[in-house]
Amino acid sequence: MPFEELDLAAFAVCLTCGGLRDGAPREQRCRCQPRTPDWEQQWQGQDIAGDLDLCLLCVRNTVTTRTRWSWLGCESCRHVSQVVGERYGHRSALPLGRHSIMNGDVVQLAASTAEVVGSLMAATRHWNALRDWREAEFNRLAELPRAAGPTLPLVEWQQWWPPSLGASVDAFDRYGVVPVPADLTSLRQAQTWFRSSVR
Ligand SMILES: [Zn+2]
Ligand SMILES: [Zn+2]
Repeated sequence: MPFEELDLAAFAVCLTCGGLRDGAPREQRCRCQPRTPDWEQQWQGQDIAGDLDLCLLCVRNTVTTRTRWSWLGCESCRHVSQVVGERYGHRSALPLGRHSIMNGDVVQLAASTAEVVGSLMAATRHWNALRDWREAEFNRLAELPRAAGPTLPLVEWQQWWPPSLGASVDAFDRYGVVPVPADLTSLRQAQTWFRSSVR
């Protein structure tokens, strides 16, 4: 089932765990809900029991989550990560792919074992830090909507917190691994516009 056929209006954000739930045509469950055999059955043959998640960095935009090759960061966050990463001579600044190969951690034939182990450990630390960030950022954004109930329709979440390039730059900057260089004007302008529009 292609992403375009997913009915985004059928998904809700769980304001407890930060996962997406409900959905159509298959029911997605968040971490708070039970995983029954019947429910698991409908996800057979798929690496991950779900279709959609919120972006790991901006926590506003969505990403598809079906395979172990799926991205953890949305399109605009990956754009920021790539543009900034290239400035510093890397493929991307943050490991926003679920699989290490997607993040440029490709093992070089000439690399020594110690180098390979070192780079994989660095990637893991990085990845854990991103998980912590996601949780903290979600809790920050969820504080106001939580007053309305335990879940919020995804479309309403995105009305509260619209995804945009500026929002991605803002999240990237606050995540704080490397700053967005001031001369990357396409990104900086998006952020300036974003900051002036934040409620
Ligand atoms: Zn939940
Ligand atoms: Zn994002």
